[in-house]
Amino acid sequence: MGLPKIVVLGAGYGGLMTVLGLQKQLNHQEAEITLVNLNPYHYVTTKLHEPAAGTLDPDYARVSIDSLINRDKVRFVQDKVTGFDPEKKQVHLEGSEEPLSYDYLVFGLGAETETFGTKGVLENALLINSLNSVRMIRERIEYNFSRYQMSEEKSDELITIVVGGAGFTGIEFVGELVDRLPKLCRQFDIPREKVRLVNIEAAPTVLPGFDKDLVDYAVKYLEDRGVEFRISTPIEAVTPDGVVLKGGEELKSANVVWTCGVRGNSLLEKAGLETMRGRVKVDEFLRAPGYEDLFIIGDNSLILNDQERPYPPTAQMAMQQGEALAKNLTAILRGGSPTSFRFQLKGTVASLGKGSAIGIVGNRKVFGTQASLIKRLIDWRWYYMVGGLPLVFKKAKF
Ligand code: FAD
Ligand code: NAD
Repeated sequence: MGLPKIVVLGAGYGGLMTVLGLQKQLNHQEAEITLVNLNPYHYVTTKLHEPAAGTLDPDYARVSIDSLINRDKVRFVQDKVTGFDPEKKQVHLEGSEEPLSYDYLVFGLGAETETFGTKGVLENALLINSLNSVRMIRERIEYNFSRYQMSEEKSDELITIVVGGAGFTGIEFVGELVDRLPKLCRQFDIPREKVRLVNIEAAPTVLPGFDKDLVDYAVKYLEDRGVEFRISTPIEAVTPDGVVLKGGEELKSANVVWTCGVRGNSLLEKAGLETMRGRVKVDEFLRAPGYEDLFIIGDNSLILNDQERPYPPTAQMAMQQGEALAKNLTAILRGGSPTSFRFQLKGTVASLGKGSAIGIVGNRKVFGTQASLIKRLIDWRWYYMVGGLPLVFKKAKF
């Protein structure tokens, strides 16, 4: 009989944490570990708003997988997962006729864009969901600014940026744009006051559900720097010309970025699993109901808090799950028992660009420069966890 096969899908926060834990804890003779990921690199999803706005070189938001894994212990397959069969215990890959078979599967392929059925989102809006998608945002904005400068008509929609959704992703992206716009305007000789940056939110407040003082701080900070907020204003359609708002108003823009939320990966539904907004409600050991060998982590897992409400999908959750799962898989392979997973919320900090942030750390509210420094430390901690101090010095921007 061969070694037990552990297949980990996705080198995001959850998948990478699982693989790095397994390679540390298991020795060669205990399991065959395979990691599958679309790209040869891990991208730091929590930093994607920065290259999107053009305030960070995309290279700082990615790490080569080869530099993180021990090839003697982990086999890396760069390919696209196209499906899996939990009954046959097989994973299908785009670039291979032969399915990958497994004894234990860890599903960590991250989230997909939630459109809520809004027309035209996937066809016409730009998305913050991969390194390539954010490169397009930066390039689209620069291209449209140069078109504006070249054209006789000087169409306002070319220099109107619409961000749909004022959740954490939308707010962090808007914050970066606030930093970038003055430089961009100088670069293209466009007066700053001609450029519109509009953040549209369906709920009656920006960052719905977050602390009111911190929300007020963020709104004032961003409005003082030229951001226009439209709250209680659902986007009903995204068209090639801009967005259509509830009530029929049309806002013309050649730069529409959709940050209205995420859902679980559609491959879970295709595999026949029961989901809520694409996410699978996992048991205390992070297993899909009815399967001893299928673990679902990160944005694809659904866990309820003490008030029976789902925890939001975060990197913090994915990291803790990956760490716990590596320990549990090690225990299972050695004939021991797994330990129940319990999420520990350490806080939430959101940046408002390079100089400011808002957040709750423990029970304390933080904002401004102090919060911004904490946010940077959180980013650096991730580099430290996966690649130690050398990676922090290579990737951290001071
Ligand atoms: P991901 O980290 O998204 O990784 C998924 C991996 O799977 C990727 O490598 C992807 O390439 C790969 N993949 C996907 N599909 C396939 C396929 N078919 N085949 C092969 N590989 C595939 N959370 C926080 O806690 N704090 C923050 O400050 C924070 N900031 C954020 C900022 C932004 C701009 C965004 C967008 C999100 C932020 N989040 C934050 C949320 C956080 O990034 C996610 O919750 C977290 O990345 C989820 O981790 P994951 O392991 O599930 O998936
Ligand atoms: P989200 O669901 O948190 O926010 C989406 C926002 O879009 C909501 O406020 C929603 O009301 C709004 N919206 C939905 N449909 C709309 C429509 N048709 N028109 C206008 N507005 C609409 O999604 P997100 O911001 O992408 O965040 C995804 C996950 O990542 C969340 O769990 C979040 O907590 C996490 N995240 C965390 C951080 C951080 O901790 N710093 C940063 C980014 C993301």
